[in-house]
Amino acid sequence: MELSHRSKEYEEVHQSAINHLKQLLNIPDNYQVLFLQGGASLQFSMLPLQFLKKGKVANYILTGAWSEKALKEAKLIGETKIAASTKENQYKSIPTLSDIQLNNNDAYVHLTSNNTIFGTQWTEFPDISHAPLIADMSSDILSRPIDISKFGLIYAGAQKNLGPSGVTVAIIRDDLLNENVDHVPTMLRYQTHAETNSLYHTPPTFAIYMLNEVLSWVNQQGGVKEIEKQNIEKAKLIYDAIDESEGFYKGHAEKEARSLMNITFNLPNEEQNKRFLTKAKELGFVGLNGHRSVGGCRASTYNAVPMEACIALREFMDSYRKEHS
Ligand SMILES: *Cc1c(COP(=O)(O)O)cnc(C)c1O
Repeated sequence: MELSHRSKEYEEVHQSAINHLKQLLNIPDNYQVLFLQGGASLQFSMLPLQFLKKGKVANYILTGAWSEKALKEAKLIGETKIAASTKENQYKSIPTLSDIQLNNNDAYVHLTSNNTIFGTQWTEFPDISHAPLIADMSSDILSRPIDISKFGLIYAGAQKNLGPSGVTVAIIRDDLLNENVDHVPTMLRYQTHAETNSLYHTPPTFAIYMLNEVLSWVNQQGGVKEIEKQNIEKAKLIYDAIDESEGFYKGHAEKEARSLMNITFNLPNEEQNKRFLTKAKELGFVGLNGHRSVGGCRASTYNAVPMEACIALREFMDSYRKEHS
């Protein structure tokens, strides 16, 4: 933590983290990996600043609270549209590919790959060629293999699947670095960070060191394909507890939209939700409360959550139901 970010020792860590990400996510050569700060939330502003020009429209697919926030920031910069939304369905689903309305003058199309708060996830991404497809993958990056070449830009705050908070990863296609950005403050240009290998200014060196350690761990696990296998098994344990509960636990997401990372559910009433959460807390389950904006329960099964934790939760859900239904 005391070493200069210009030191040889740090540069090795920095480059190793970039190389690991390229290898683990199978990132094509015409993409650059950037380490930024300000979280996914700053990306909500940084990307329209760079890509939303006069005469163009930023087109957003709304699948939850984070996509709404991303749209809100783009509105401050320029003209926007909603390509599709599942809000009327309480964000229980993901739009079908044919529901997505595209326009000739789209600056880009934006989606959120996993909806952390509502517990839904895209399984198949749209093929979009008339404009760059941009994705917020904060809560499912590195949880499964993805075809990077479908996207112009992918971004993710590190704190869910990549490491501690403080670094934001962006994966950007080279041609998007040729935009005229004379109007954009230097720190908010992707170019600035691409041209300097994310060393324009002091990067969050400790967060990147930890990111590199996490990526080595994923490598040791057998890579992203193997991690995905584990994630599917982990999530299945908890979804099975819901599906076999004869309606005692009610999943929020529609089955075909279910997230492998965030499993959202409710008990028959608010009183029961509270009792379940209190009992779970007593037994040592941490963070089972739903997001404060929606309530209920949410089990997050990020990469770092071990199988044993999911087995324990499944067992607790079963025994709690037998006692209380
Ligand atoms: C957590 C989260 C964010 C917010 O990230 P910050 O790094 O706190 O700005 C944005 N999008 C999604 C999908 C998230 O899960």
